[in-house]
Amino acid sequence: MLSGPFLPRNWTNSTENFNEADCVMVGLPYDGTCSYRPGARFGPELIRIASYGLESYSPIQGRDLDDVKFYDAGEIEFQLGNREDSLQKIETAAEETLSYNKKWLGIGGEHLVTFPAIKAYSKKYPELYVIHFDAHADVREDYINEKLSHACVMRRISEIITPDNLIQIGIRSGTQDEFEWMKENNTIAKTQEDLKERLKFLSDKPVFLSVDLDVLDPSLMSGTGTPEPGGMTYSELMSWLMLLKNLNIVGADVVELSPHYDPSGVSTVTAAKVIREVLLLMN
Ligand code: MN
Ligand code: MN
Repeated sequence: MLSGPFLPRNWTNSTENFNEADCVMVGLPYDGTCSYRPGARFGPELIRIASYGLESYSPIQGRDLDDVKFYDAGEIEFQLGNREDSLQKIETAAEETLSYNKKWLGIGGEHLVTFPAIKAYSKKYPELYVIHFDAHADVREDYINEKLSHACVMRRISEIITPDNLIQIGIRSGTQDEFEWMKENNTIAKTQEDLKERLKFLSDKPVFLSVDLDVLDPSLMSGTGTPEPGGMTYSELMSWLMLLKNLNIVGADVVELSPHYDPSGVSTVTAAKVIREVLLLMN
């Protein structure tokens, strides 16, 4: 044996003890349906490395990751190119996590990874709500005749939870059909006042939080597959997320970091910091 000391390979401040964890972080290195620039499969691995540069203390929440018991399960190994198998593996892992009464925190990977997680969650929580941060609507009926694409993920999810249980924030890109669908179904919270009104009905409901990092402006988050100008600053995203403080967040994911498109590494650091805040929010 070498005497070390060695740094752990897991996310900073995660616990080594699965049994005592309240939350399980699972890396989902899948980018099989990326419509523009692939590479999100490298997200979870590089986010872990970036996590070591982060303080565990969050000044905006006044809490420390040391107060949260979460286990880093590593990454699911996917059969590359096999979408059905990949989605099934995620659904099974999410089901297992729930069967241990632990919360799921998926680290993408592309946004389609949210769909199998919601399939698992909806069985345990029939009244599940999804709060979706994204630049993109992701409510296409299909994308180039493909219904299971990251561009359709929230549409598929709405078929499970109903559009009434979907709240979308930060959307600034989509087709005319998508914008009409969102308007008809009233899924968008345009302002923080609007969101606060909607949250009044959610105080005792189970909520799954899905953050597509491209909701941030590409000046901060160029490391993503489909950058979309006109996005939030980091502080703006935080001010939205902090409105969710008192909700019953039963699961979450943070997706669409594609680290190699940002050689400065700032996108990866930003992703890690968003994850720190999400971890504290959900625990
Ligand atoms: Mn998305
Ligand atoms: Mn997006």
